[in-house]
Amino acid sequence: MRDTLVLNSSFEPLSTVTLNRAVVLVLQDKAVVEQAHPALRVRAAAVELPVPRVIRLCRFVRVPFRRQAPWSRRGVLMRDQHRCAYCGRRATTVDHVVPRSRGGSDSWLNTVASCAEDNHRKADRTPEQAGMPLLHQPFVPSPADAMLLSLRAAERSELPSWLSGTPIRSAA
Ligand SMILES: [Zn+2]
Repeated sequence: MRDTLVLNSSFEPLSTVTLNRAVVLVLQDKAVVEQAHPALRVRAAAVELPVPRVIRLCRFVRVPFRRQAPWSRRGVLMRDQHRCAYCGRRATTVDHVVPRSRGGSDSWLNTVASCAEDNHRKADRTPEQAGMPLLHQPFVPSPADAMLLSLRAAERSELPSWLSGTPIRSAA
């Protein structure tokens, strides 16, 4: 399944569609090709065009509601770019800011990426109790971030090159 990324006219990522759907949107002048496959071409009706990898809608689409990204350890590591929230070094674990034993939940706002050492050192304490202030506050990923997280999960090896400015590394 060769999914094509759809951008809003504002360049904000919206969703992915099938190649067929992408071609139809382009042929109907509802979208323009922002990035095409370097080699492949597709024939539709009497027209031949490059296989679109990224298309952008010609008219801005207002999205009234979009689902929040579901929480996951992997998602937390990616959100924090594998940087420890306590020391800034490479993080491979996820720490609960308020420990689960004290009622802390598995949620975006209560979890941060952490190096194994700091996770172990903080143990069953809050940052205040442990004297380990957070370098930054955790946040709920925006719909665009969520889109990138899901894209990453769906097409590990085929991220559009325009996303490559953000270093995304796999969890160890
Ligand atoms: Zn650390």
